Amino acid sequence: MKTWNKRTKAVHAGTRRSQYNEVSEAIYLTQGFVYDTAEDAEARFIKAGDDEFIYARYGNPTVAMFEDRIAALEGTEDGFATASGMAAVNGALASMLRAGDHVVSARALFGSCLYILEEVLTRYGVEVTFVDGTDLAAWKAAIRPDTKAVFFESISNPTLEVIDIKSVSDLAHAVDATVIVDNVFATPVFSDALVQGADVVVYSATKHIDGQGRALGGVILGSKEFIRGTVEPYLKHTGGAMSPFNAWIMLKGLETMELRVRAQTDTALKLATALQADGALQQVIYPGLPDHPQHALTVAQIGAGGTVLAIDAGSQAAAFKLLNALEIVTISNNLGDAKSIATHPATTTHQRLSEEVKAMLGITPGLIRLSVGLEDPGDLLADLRAAVAAM
Ligand SMILES: *Cc1c(COP(=O)(O)O)cnc(C)c1O
Repeated sequence: MKTWNKRTKAVHAGTRRSQYNEVSEAIYLTQGFVYDTAEDAEARFIKAGDDEFIYARYGNPTVAMFEDRIAALEGTEDGFATASGMAAVNGALASMLRAGDHVVSARALFGSCLYILEEVLTRYGVEVTFVDGTDLAAWKAAIRPDTKAVFFESISNPTLEVIDIKSVSDLAHAVDATVIVDNVFATPVFSDALVQGADVVVYSATKHIDGQGRALGGVILGSKEFIRGTVEPYLKHTGGAMSPFNAWIMLKGLETMELRVRAQTDTALKLATALQADGALQQVIYPGLPDHPQHALTVAQIGAGGTVLAIDAGSQAAAFKLLNALEIVTISNNLGDAKSIATHPATTTHQRLSEEVKAMLGITPGLIRLSVGLEDPGDLLADLRAAVAAM
């Protein structure tokens, strides 16, 4: 399996077959497992083998298939699946940090990630320094000899800043800090985060892994020592486990993820290029466009611009007019979905932030995040052009 390419791993890695030798992965909807004898139960609680399970909060065969498949894809030794992307972000950070520890984080984060770093960790005595993630000098100044972890989204939500995984990892590793990357926007298809220096990679599986807007999920990927020694004890006792049914959805999602993500990325580039050339919007932000500030880094680190772009309509009123005129693109707040989705971050996902912080992060009143789906690219462009004209 080690020699398989990502597309083959995405279809086959981690498969466990029951005595019936089913083709499609089975859903083991069970909370627990029977032991033949009291001695077996005792032995399993002392140390469960690779294919031995105790309780679904600790692990489950369908969940284990998903964990093994996504770990194989990402190239990490192990993974722990979680109930949501946020359970993964919280689990990765909270399991390894304690009072008195220091963390450096990029400031441009998904609202809930920012909440964990700014509100939750600090409440338990963790010191967090926020930096402009695109500024290497700022990382260098903030990382201290006692820094335990650095955290960032490799492509930030929603302003699509791209952070240099290798350079930040080099700075962090010089002081033995753990590099935790929320890699949702880069997707497992384009990710090479581990090779570039990340120690731990976190995904919201709700996004491209499901890719069809059905279920919540997340995963923490890293070394066996980190996943089984640090993450698992925390998660199995605090209850952030993924449900077996959702793990099955994610397994089936992984099988088609590469085809979906590449098609969505191709369309995103087409739309960004055309909307920018039309010149009717104040700004089109897409890492795959040559004028993006980190375009060269994007090409080197990810190889493509991803499935999400952002457009600035100039004002909230114009943004709302544009959104309300869309016929194919739906107004919602998921991303990576087969359906194209538009979000107004300033009034929804990032509403909680103060006006100053929004301004600092580039979340302007006119900003719309556009997650590009699997519809016909020509139909999507026509829909967007009509909405821009209505604005
Ligand atoms: C959506 C998202 C999350 C949270 O994932 P959920 O599955 O919604 O909990 C975390 N980080 C990023 C970058 C996201 O886009």
